[in-house]
Amino acid sequence: MVHRPSFGITLDTSSQDPLFQQLFEQIAIRIHDGTLPSGFRLPPTRELAKDVGTHRNTVVRAYAELESAGFVRSTVGRGTFVERVRSTKATSREPTGESHIPWASRLTSIAHAEGMHRPPPSALGSSREIIDLYRMQPSDDLLPHDNFRRCIDHVMRTRGAETMRYSPVEGVRRLRQAVVEDLTRQGVPITEDDVLITNGSQQALDLLARLLVEPDDAVGIDRAVYTGASQAFIMARAKLIAIASDRQGMSTARLAAYGRGDLRVVYTMPNQSNPTGARMSLERRKEILDWSRVTQTPLIEDDYAADLVLSDVPPPPALRALDRDVLYVGTFSKRLMPGLRVGYIVAPPDVMRSLTAIKRGTDLSTSPLMQFALAEFLERGYLRAHLNRTLPIYRKKRDALENALAKHLPKDVHFRHVEHGVTLWLELPAQVSADAIAAAAAREGVVVAAGTTFAVEHGPIHGLRIVFSRESENRLIEAAKRLGQVLDKALRAKTRTTEESPALSP
Ligand code: PMP
Repeated sequence: MVHRPSFGITLDTSSQDPLFQQLFEQIAIRIHDGTLPSGFRLPPTRELAKDVGTHRNTVVRAYAELESAGFVRSTVGRGTFVERVRSTKATSREPTGESHIPWASRLTSIAHAEGMHRPPPSALGSSREIIDLYRMQPSDDLLPHDNFRRCIDHVMRTRGAETMRYSPVEGVRRLRQAVVEDLTRQGVPITEDDVLITNGSQQALDLLARLLVEPDDAVGIDRAVYTGASQAFIMARAKLIAIASDRQGMSTARLAAYGRGDLRVVYTMPNQSNPTGARMSLERRKEILDWSRVTQTPLIEDDYAADLVLSDVPPPPALRALDRDVLYVGTFSKRLMPGLRVGYIVAPPDVMRSLTAIKRGTDLSTSPLMQFALAEFLERGYLRAHLNRTLPIYRKKRDALENALAKHLPKDVHFRHVEHGVTLWLELPAQVSADAIAAAAAREGVVVAAGTTFAVEHGPIHGLRIVFSRESENRLIEAAKRLGQVLDKALRAKTRTTEESPALSP
């Protein structure tokens, strides 16, 4: 049989998609639509590589992926042959390739809501070498592999079936006790009955939204806010009301415009706002609590970065330490490991029953294995030991990043010394777009989150969030240098356009 070896395949070297994947997809499509029939022998890897202008290893990898996906079969010495694939033609028994349900019109408004669709930057999914200042996760060497494995091992041996059954809905007693001790150490005195264990604090936000918000209820939230929080409220069909913030976090002067019944609940991160890093002073905390009491509006306090205190000065007391009505949300994701998926809610007795019922209706319970293992981990004092090891490393990473930024950033770009958590907020001058800067940085291999990612309402947010927990000091320094260059170039281009077109100047 005569064939053109490339079957019309073209590779796009400017695409973010790896070449082997492009090759895989184009061959898979041709097998699926019958262009390459069952039994067809694919060209030798060297030949196809030459034909489409790529390296042979790229074709070898594409063939290997095709084989593991069941599209082809390789026989040593004979070649690679197309396997029989299921016909897409409709028969009375087989499902057809085309859908009979107009899915787009069958989905709820939540599924379509704009705030639900903020995919991470595409550079994160590419195989390109990047410096990841986007994902808020520790680097692999900062995860407590050995100690956690010991705890899993121990609880499975000593607790047996208990770790494999359903957990009580409110959480395993030992873990709730350990959370009580942990929070009491942090100055939040509570009892075991105040604690509900959740699947990460993301679930805590979801449960609280379901508990408190009716469709179209107004929820007060920072103008730039952790997207998971806005999504939890969007899923409860809330109307998000952006409350402006200053360097001390949510502005109580702005909040004062809302009276009793105007807002159903207010969500805030007093210790380290994600993304802006603002920390509420004690005075601000007292003001917000006063407002909550006067207007009888519940407050959700998200203390996601608890324990990640990088300065010598501890943060002011938690809102929950000052007021028993505050709904306090905590997690082990940032200080320990996100893969645990364990967080908790501290709530007053009046709501605990309903909250527990909603948790049951959502997922029955959180994994008992993880809860027992974490309780063991906490009881053995491993969290303290872990923080003693990791906090000095985070401080060093922060220092490396801050020093390099101070050296390389143009003078119009500012940031505040990070005292808490693992993110730094870069304030950009209003004349440059955060999205454009983040895109330019990604082209230079540095992935950061643009302020607009966190916007609750339309309008620019002039800042970039930089996470420094994942990368090494050297790579943080390199990233700061590249960011400096990107910003320098953008600001100089702006100055030039302004000078060249005086009509644009005020
Ligand atoms: N709150 C904030 C402010 C966060 O940044 C995150 C995760 N990035 C969460 C809650 C949820 O985290 P988890 O579910 O892992 O506890």
